[in-house]
Amino acid sequence: PLPTIQGDIKFEKVIFEYEKGRAALKGIDLDVKAGQSIALVGHTGSGKSTIINLIGRFYDITSGKITIDGKDIRDVTLDSLRGQIGTVLQDTFIFSGTIRDNIRFGRLDATDQEVEEAAKAVDAHDFITKLPGGYDTEVEERGSALSMGQRQLLSFARALLADPRILILDEATASIDTETELKIQEALKTLLQGRTSFIVAHRLSTIRHADKIVVLDHGEIKEEGNHSEL
Ligand code: ATP
Ligand code: MG
Repeated sequence: PLPTIQGDIKFEKVIFEYEKGRAALKGIDLDVKAGQSIALVGHTGSGKSTIINLIGRFYDITSGKITIDGKDIRDVTLDSLRGQIGTVLQDTFIFSGTIRDNIRFGRLDATDQEVEEAAKAVDAHDFITKLPGGYDTEVEERGSALSMGQRQLLSFARALLADPRILILDEATASIDTETELKIQEALKTLLQGRTSFIVAHRLSTIRHADKIVVLDHGEIKEEGNHSEL
């Protein structure tokens, strides 16, 4: 098992084929230091989601090596590997239940106070307390009573509460107003603090804040650097 990890992640000559003879990743080398945030960009089909799926070992690679803190992820149990990884997906997952339950899903033993602290840290507390039932407001699976931005903040609060060393974020493409955008950027900064993160980034503001931008093209790294370098 992985004990409490630092979060250094390394891809060495990673080749991956979903189907034999058709490589989705054609030799990826990536060296990510603990705490760094990496923005993955590139056109559709370039391999962004494939990279993030491989970190949680949802597929085994065809050749090469992926290590966390120098340890090959194939030598670690899936439970302990995935226990270190928090995921915030594009289609923010809200289930039927209270707002509190939805945030607590990040860590089932969290106290009410911890739930509220997480919500406050990502600036979701204000909108939650304005809902008719506050933290006890029931929401539906589709979260229809909540705006896209509110759903995003809830998922950030949930991830913050879980406190994983590695964070994977598939950024939503939906357009949101400028005020919400700023709020989300601030919340994102809080969430990324002290974690290694991989973000499939669509927003320029997110790309700008990343420590490293990796531009993928047909399964290969085309460019790599920070915002001022590229
Ligand atoms: P998008 O921006 O559209 O999400 P992406 O950069 O995330 O694209 P990937 O989903 O990583 O791209 O896909 C990389 C390549 O692998 C594409 O050629 C895609 O068709 C292929 N691919 C992705 N998932 C599968 C799968 N489950 N089975 C077979 N091929 C797949
Ligand atoms: Mg994708």
